[in-house]
Amino acid sequence: MSRFFSDKFASLTPYTPGEQPRDAAYVKLNTNESPFPPSPKAVAAASKEAERLMLYSDPDERALREALAALHGLTPDEFLVTNGSDEALYFAFSAYCDDRHPAVFADITYGFYPVFAALLSLPTRVVPLREDFTVNVDDFCPAGGTVFLANPNAPTGLALSPAEIERILAANPDSVVLVDEAYVDFGAESVLPLIRRRPNLLVVQTFSKSRSMAGARLGFAAGSPELIADLNTIRCSINPYNVNRMTLAAGIGALADEEYTHRNCQTIIKTRTRVLAEMRKMGFWATESVTNFLFVRHPALSGEALYRALRERGILVRHFGTPALNDYNRITVGSDAQMDTLLGAVRSILEEKS
Ligand code: PMP
Repeated sequence: MSRFFSDKFASLTPYTPGEQPRDAAYVKLNTNESPFPPSPKAVAAASKEAERLMLYSDPDERALREALAALHGLTPDEFLVTNGSDEALYFAFSAYCDDRHPAVFADITYGFYPVFAALLSLPTRVVPLREDFTVNVDDFCPAGGTVFLANPNAPTGLALSPAEIERILAANPDSVVLVDEAYVDFGAESVLPLIRRRPNLLVVQTFSKSRSMAGARLGFAAGSPELIADLNTIRCSINPYNVNRMTLAAGIGALADEEYTHRNCQTIIKTRTRVLAEMRKMGFWATESVTNFLFVRHPALSGEALYRALRERGILVRHFGTPALNDYNRITVGSDAQMDTLLGAVRSILEEKS
């Protein structure tokens, strides 16, 4: 830290992203990326758009908002386009939390929520999950602030039903309830169709996972035109060109190829089911994940030990060193070949141990 750094941020602990190694060819199962390339339509659109990089991107992001609206049967003014869904989350923390409206989120959830709250000096109310990592809906009814709900949740992989989320929405009519649906395409149900009925609902999604575009940084928020206008006020006070031309074009290309996205998600779900069964046979406890990752624990191996042993064998998974998650690992569902490598390595680690 330099002596010039504002006191405000002196004790800030930034979000720690999963490793992005440059040195070795790891099997990368640590950041929930897709093992598949983006749609050829997304790649072609981005390459073509590269020729126009001398021009700023459209600050209205109109074409992509129109494509999102057409896909979801809504209007473009119900969408906001962002630089990754992290940016949508940041805008929402900025817009809807203050001393009178604490940020309310689970104790085990996406690690960026407490970071945004700390960055913006916001009060928080942290709601413990149940022992089995499920959300107790009653704890959010009412929530006493602006709700941030990852659904499905990370790193647990578990989802609430739309009916349960509606209960939270109904119990908090004077608070914004943000539902972060980063992993929704792998087996959960989206509440996006509820935005017209629930003026306090903000849904956030990403192109990083099911659309294989983590490196493009593209996300969006959907909600009433009034909520979207609030977020636009924040966006245009920071960076009206928040999404670059190539990414906007790639997003439109991806949305023109929903069949490709759907097929990839089905493949991931099939692989997930297979790997989950194999790992349970090897003695792992695991949640019934509806995401593109598994959340597992082995009774004979600490989370840290499994993480290290896999790393030595060239496989990266995620281990969170917090007390509640110390025994667990989060493992991205990759290609069948990657998962076979993982299963083989886990088998040999367990054999060595016994
Ligand atoms: N929400 C959740 C729950 C996530 O796990 C992630 C991925 N780290 C994000 C949001 C952000 O994803 P991105 O910024 O790539 O859209």
